Amino acid sequence: MIDDLYQEVILDHSKRPRNFGSLENPSAHAEGFNPLCGDRLTLELKLDNGIVQDARFKGAGCAISVASASLMTEMLKGKTREEAEQLFDKFHQMLTTDAAVPELGKLAVFSGVREFPARVKCATLAWHTLHAALQNSEERVSTE
Ligand code: ZN
Repeated sequence: MIDDLYQEVILDHSKRPRNFGSLENPSAHAEGFNPLCGDRLTLELKLDNGIVQDARFKGAGCAISVASASLMTEMLKGKTREEAEQLFDKFHQMLTTDAAVPELGKLAVFSGVREFPARVKCATLAWHTLHAALQNSEERVSTE
């Protein structure tokens, strides 16, 4: 059972996603697709000296995938590539193990997703796409 407050945050971000749209001159971008649910998104990043200055996404999907992309883009600003990758590792750990995960801030709202393994791919799609964008990959990412 997902905590009510957490559910509220997820609903809010899925209905009014932050950083939705495109960037003028993105330094990196990637596309992600989760065939299990049909979630799709395009992520654009503006990097300066390895630091994320701005992040935008577009796409359509279930509430969890959209809320995850929205919260991710909020948290990315000011992070280095390494910090962003570390955040992905911790987030993935929270969703797939029972281990106590160090401070994840707002991303903790997705902890309830652990109870629904099929939705883990919805929650991590934006992050897999981020990983691809940071690798400067032009390839489309699939969670399969
Ligand atoms: Zn989904």
